[in-house]
Amino acid sequence: MNNKFKKIFGIDLGTTYSAIAYVNEYGKTTIVLNAENQRITPSVVFFDEDQIIVGEVAKENAKIYPNEIVTLIKRSMGDPYFLFEYQGKHYRPEEISSYILRKLVNDAKQHLNEDITDVVITCPAYFGINEREATRVAGEIAGLTVRQVLNEPTAAAIAYGMMENNDENVILVYDLGGGTFDITMFHAKPDAIEVICTGGDKELGGKDWDDRIIRYMVEQFQTETGTTDDILEDVDTWQELQLAAEKAKKTLSQRDKTPIMVTSRGERVRIELTREKFQEITSDLLERTISLTHNMLEDAQKKGYDKFDKFILVGGSARMPQIAARLKTEFPSVRPKQFAPDEAITKGAAIYGWKMSLNDVLIERVKEYSGEQDVDQINIPESIAQSVADETGFTLDAVKYSNIAIRNVTSKSFGVVARNEQNEDQVINLVLKNTRVPVQVTEQFGTHLKNQKTVKIRIMEDEVSSKNVSADDAIEIGTAILKIPSNLPANSPIQIVFRLNEEGRLSITAMETTQSREVSVSIETSSLIQGKELEEAMARSKTVSVS
Ligand code: AMP
Repeated sequence: MNNKFKKIFGIDLGTTYSAIAYVNEYGKTTIVLNAENQRITPSVVFFDEDQIIVGEVAKENAKIYPNEIVTLIKRSMGDPYFLFEYQGKHYRPEEISSYILRKLVNDAKQHLNEDITDVVITCPAYFGINEREATRVAGEIAGLTVRQVLNEPTAAAIAYGMMENNDENVILVYDLGGGTFDITMFHAKPDAIEVICTGGDKELGGKDWDDRIIRYMVEQFQTETGTTDDILEDVDTWQELQLAAEKAKKTLSQRDKTPIMVTSRGERVRIELTREKFQEITSDLLERTISLTHNMLEDAQKKGYDKFDKFILVGGSARMPQIAARLKTEFPSVRPKQFAPDEAITKGAAIYGWKMSLNDVLIERVKEYSGEQDVDQINIPESIAQSVADETGFTLDAVKYSNIAIRNVTSKSFGVVARNEQNEDQVINLVLKNTRVPVQVTEQFGTHLKNQKTVKIRIMEDEVSSKNVSADDAIEIGTAILKIPSNLPANSPIQIVFRLNEEGRLSITAMETTQSREVSVSIETSSLIQGKELEEAMARSKTVSVS
C-alpha cells in the first residue's frame, strides 16, 4: 500500500461498550479483537493500585471492588462536577475515558503488530459542545491524534451507505445504545450524505432498561421477604443486580422469560421476569424514543422532508424485539430494519477515517496534476481517481466513494445572554439547532453601562428552535471576556460572531465596533479538563499502565 496512505482507525467510545476498527487493504472494514478475543470491550475502568484495567476483567471485578470501578463515564462527559477519587488523586471524565481508548488502541496495536496514531472517535449527535470537546481531549490524553469527532448516527449512515445502499434515499437512523438515544434523518445522494435533522436524549439508553429491571427485582424481593430495606444500599447487591439485570434483558431478546436470583444479607429469592412484564415496566422509555422521533420528524418537515425511504436501527439496545415491533406500528409505511447493531458505528468511523486518508491522497494528486491549490472536492477527474486506485490498491469505486461529502447540522442552538428591555436576562440564539454547518452568524449587541471596561459574554446552549429563549431553558457552556476602550457611552455597539465548523466546534470572535477592535475570545469553561489538571492527566497517562 502507498506509504502516503495513513491508516486512520475508527473508535466507537460507547457508554457501555467500545470498539475499534479499520479498513483493510482490500477495502473491507475490520473490527479488531481485544486481548480477550472480543469484538467489543466493556467501557468499564478498574483502578487496581498503580494499574488500570479496562474491559471484561474490570466488569467482572465490579462485584468485588465496587468503589474502585468506574462505569458509564460517557454520561458524565462535560460534567463539571464529576470527579472520581482514588488514592488521593482526582480523575475527570476525560482522563477516565482516555483509559478506555488506550485499552482499545493497545490491544489493537498488539493484535495487528503496528502503530496506531490517528483516530476518528464517535459521539452521540446529541452531544453539546463541551461533551464533544471532552471526547477529543480524552483522545489527546491517550496520546492519539483525533482527526475527527464524528456523530454516531452519521457513522452508522456511512457504514450503511457503503455496505448496503447505493441509491438516493432519505434514511432514518434510530440509534439506541447503552446510554444514549439519537434519531437522525439523512439524505443519501450519489455525491453526499446530508444530515437533515437530528434529535434524541443523551440520558436515555439500554442502561435505563436495566435500571427498571433492578427496581422491579428490588420490589419483588421486598414482597417475597417482607423487608422494607433498600437492598441497593449494599454496594455488593447493587453491583450484582446490575450485571444480572443486563443479562436478563439480553436473554429476554431471545426468550419469553428468564429467572433472576437476588441475594441480600443471606436471603436468596428467585424471581421470574417475563418478556411481557419487562415490556410493561419499560414501555414509557420506548414511548419517549417515539415522541423524540416525532419531534425530529416535525423539524424535518419544516425543511421539506415529509417522508423517508429507509429506516435503520442501530445500537445494541435496538436488539430488544419490542423496539422494532413498536416502530412498525407507529410508522407502518417503512419497515424498520436492524443494521449491524453493535458494529455499525465503529465500522462507519473506520470508513470515515479511511475516507479521510484516501481523500488526502486524492486531493494531493489533483493539486499536483492541476497546479491549483483550491481543489473542488466533487469534481475529481476519473483518470486521477483511477491513478489513486492503482497507487493505493483500492478499487476505483472505493476511491470515488472516498470523495463523498458528509454534510452535518448542529444538534443544539447556541446563543448569548443579553438584557431585555425589562432588564431581565434572556438568551438570544445566534445559531439555531438543525442548521447546516459550517455556519457563521454575526449579531450586534450594546454595552449596558457608561464607561464599561469589559463585557462578559455568557455562551449558552439550548434545544429551542427560536431566537429568544428563557435563561432557564439554556445551559451556560462557557464565558468569554471582551475588553473595551474607556469612556464609551452606554449602549455602545458590540458585534459577536459565532462560527461552527463542520465538526460542530464553536469559535467566537467579538468586535467593539467604535474602534473596530476585534477580539478573538477563548471560551473559559469548568466543564472541561484544562490547564494544570490537563497537564497532570497527560503526565499520568505516560506512566500508568493500562491493560
Ligand atoms: P452499544 O452502546 O450500541 O454497544 O449498546 C450497548 C447496549 O445494548 C447495552 O445497554 C447492552 O445491554 C444492550 N444490548 C446489547 N445486546 C443486547 C440484546 N441482545 N438485547 C438487549 N440489549 C442488548
